[in-house]
Amino acid sequence: MNNLEPLKTFAKNAKNTDRKLPVIFIGHGNPMNALGNNEYYEAWQHLGENLPRPQAILCVSAHWETLGTMVTAMDKPKTIHDFYGFPKKLFDVEYPAPGSPEFATLTQKTVKSFPISDDFDWGIDHGTWSVIKPMFPKADIPVFQLSLDRLKSPSLHFELAKELKMLRNKGVLIVGSGNIVHNLRTADLSTDAGYDWAIEFDEKVKDLINKNDLKSLVDYQNLGNIANMSIPTNEHYLPLLYILAVKENVEQPEFFTEKVTAGSLSMRSVIFG
Ligand code: ZN
Repeated sequence: MNNLEPLKTFAKNAKNTDRKLPVIFIGHGNPMNALGNNEYYEAWQHLGENLPRPQAILCVSAHWETLGTMVTAMDKPKTIHDFYGFPKKLFDVEYPAPGSPEFATLTQKTVKSFPISDDFDWGIDHGTWSVIKPMFPKADIPVFQLSLDRLKSPSLHFELAKELKMLRNKGVLIVGSGNIVHNLRTADLSTDAGYDWAIEFDEKVKDLINKNDLKSLVDYQNLGNIANMSIPTNEHYLPLLYILAVKENVEQPEFFTEKVTAGSLSMRSVIFG
């Protein structure tokens, strides 16, 4: 399948510079994807080339979990290599984008129902840089991250995320980075195919997104055993809920990199707007 095909309509609309920034969920998968020469990296590059230039990028990454919600608020976030057992060249990747203390403060003020603490220790983790670097290789747009609060239920994450919607009007590109199906215990990196149950769940999620059935997507635990298998822990799924919460009902989904690989890793990504 040509992964760039579904982005064609989106690219056509991109010529209109007045349009609001879209919101995007990206399946990031294996950290090695960040080194390029693969279909996902190409799709991320293509995506970035067709996006209006944002004022800043807010990324909700599967790889930053905290107690309570936090937002990175430093001027110069460091590149975090939060993995092990990978080649040195992956540890050598740097993404020296500036941070945005201003947008971090605005985020804290915008979200009224939940407290958000400012953070000066984290930075840009691989959930963020592996996809943002191919999209914006110059690293000249401020990047800040919002953490996933381990104590919140999926519905509370969704409620909090709804309050981020206003940031879109301020020129912030909101990106969620995770994977719809993410089961590393069952994953088999030697195959590029998906298990039947993983494909079934991935397609179920696509169908629910197409139907705009947000309630079922938030209450994914009610989707049966295929959901339990696909989401053994929910940190890679939750970034999708943030994107579903900040889209408008009139915004139609466009899917790209629609594929389940390594048995139980869905690379499905979706853009709204
Ligand atoms: Zn990950």
